[in-house]
Amino acid sequence: MAATHFTAPAIVVLGKGALMTARRIQQLYPQALIHGLAERADDADRSYSEFGATLRQLYQQNTPIIALCAAGIVIRTLAAVLLEKGAEPPVLAVAEDGSAVVPLLGGLGGVNVMAREIASALGTAAAITTSGELRFGTCLLNPPAGYALGDLELGKRFVSDLLSGEKVRVEGAAPWLAQAQLPEDDQAQLAIHVGYADREPSDHELLIYPRNVLVALKGDLPDAAGAVKTALHDSRIALQALGCLLASKEEMANPALHTAAETLGVAVRFTDAATPAEMIQQVLPQLLPPLTPAEGIAVAVAPQPLDVRQIGRARGRLAVIGLGPGASDFMIPAVKAELARANDVLGYETYVRMAGPFRPDQVLHCTDNREEMQRARHAFELAAAGRSVVVVSSGDPGVFAMAAAVLEALHESDNADWHRVDLHILPGVSASLATAALAGAPLGHDFCVMSLSDNLKPWEIIEKRLDLACQADLALAFYNPISRSRPWQLGRALEIVRRHRSPETPVTLGRDVGRPAQTLRVITLGELAPELVDMRTMVLIGSSLTCVFPRADGQRWVYTPRWYGSKPGQ
Ligand code: SAH
Repeated sequence: MAATHFTAPAIVVLGKGALMTARRIQQLYPQALIHGLAERADDADRSYSEFGATLRQLYQQNTPIIALCAAGIVIRTLAAVLLEKGAEPPVLAVAEDGSAVVPLLGGLGGVNVMAREIASALGTAAAITTSGELRFGTCLLNPPAGYALGDLELGKRFVSDLLSGEKVRVEGAAPWLAQAQLPEDDQAQLAIHVGYADREPSDHELLIYPRNVLVALKGDLPDAAGAVKTALHDSRIALQALGCLLASKEEMANPALHTAAETLGVAVRFTDAATPAEMIQQVLPQLLPPLTPAEGIAVAVAPQPLDVRQIGRARGRLAVIGLGPGASDFMIPAVKAELARANDVLGYETYVRMAGPFRPDQVLHCTDNREEMQRARHAFELAAAGRSVVVVSSGDPGVFAMAAAVLEALHESDNADWHRVDLHILPGVSASLATAALAGAPLGHDFCVMSLSDNLKPWEIIEKRLDLACQADLALAFYNPISRSRPWQLGRALEIVRRHRSPETPVTLGRDVGRPAQTLRVITLGELAPELVDMRTMVLIGSSLTCVFPRADGQRWVYTPRWYGSKPGQ
């Protein structure tokens, strides 16, 4: 199995011809998804409609890209975003038939390592052009996970000295260099120094820090990041060797602590212990008693780089996400990123399936549509144990969906662990808006959104609200208009609407919007009968000003003007 990269790569194909090679590369990176051009490579895991925009978005999100197409296409496509500041993920072009692997960008992100991995899986050679890499078989400036390079500019000079024929010696433990073909010599002037001590590099030295230092701290320090820096400095430990922060679980939701971790560029983990020294002893009992350079701070150095996942536990995360109506193009990028990081995914089976594909390591918890509160509580239990949990809704999670159920479960609970979970609600395109967009702008002015389901509210309140909304001449959007167990409610609702609106009032019916079976119908209130509607339909009823006109393709546009009364300026 290949080295695990921080984010799973995206394998991008343009046509079916590349799918076989793409699947072979996917075996190497089981977490990678294959993105295929819509209608050309529909058997891919994800489909996209615009190659350029997709590639640039992946690049800007720092996702490693393996593009199965001509190198030139990739270069031209990414050229516009190359000069922007920010991280540079590995980008490779691979010949459709797997005969060539060309690393293009991301030298410091490990592109050559990936190129070699892919080439060896495809039984070909990687087109490596980086001199240092060719000569030494490794990129000295890109040490493996758990190690940090001291200074990139000094490093470049060091490598060019080495390329000009100088010898080198290695001080400290650098297990990954054992494989490299370095011109080693114990007497060499050039030295690669691996260690956690804070020191100025001497002229002929490449400093690499093992990230083996653990700092435990109290959450009430006024400037936590500053205090950590001072404590390390006073202990003569390099800041680059900091591997992880540790705090008490009572501090899990303390924003100052998370700001400090972000400033320092490390993760923060949590334990049950109370004092910083006890925290460290609890998670790494085999270490020497920690140093306590300042009040509220303890520092310990481990013999190896820290494996953050093994230290205490993470703050759990719970995201309630909206998938949008169905098509993946209508899903916001933040939701896609959340699905990619999830350990557990909960929801109604249809929606969970719509949110896929998932990796084998992701646990799916599919439940019936009616078990919302139970699902919400289950989600908190998982997240409170430190996992990254996603609850899926269709459309927007805040519109007749899971977000309110999750908040209700939290509000009812006095479990402090649940309240400390990192909770996010991520929006989606709701069915009313997706349907409206297909028809034009039927909700272009004030409108009223209602669910016609009387499962969780008395029918009288629905009638009352509907009557008042009609009196107010609002356009209407009906969710849950009808179902087998609620057969008469829509008919009754339409009786109320007809008391206020003329039979010519435009009505838009969107069914399975954004899904393969999508249909859109524009009719009138006079024509609207409950038989035309089912539980997968969105019903939009116009106000007195909503109008319809023909479009060139034979269909019709519907819109409600932005103004009310008489048209301004006339
Ligand atoms: N949270 C969802 C709504 C859930 S209520 C959202 O924001 O869209 C379920 C109702 O939404 C269905 O009965 C139907 O009226 C409507 N609906 C959901 N998805 C739809 C789709 N793709 N096409 C048409 N209507 C849809």
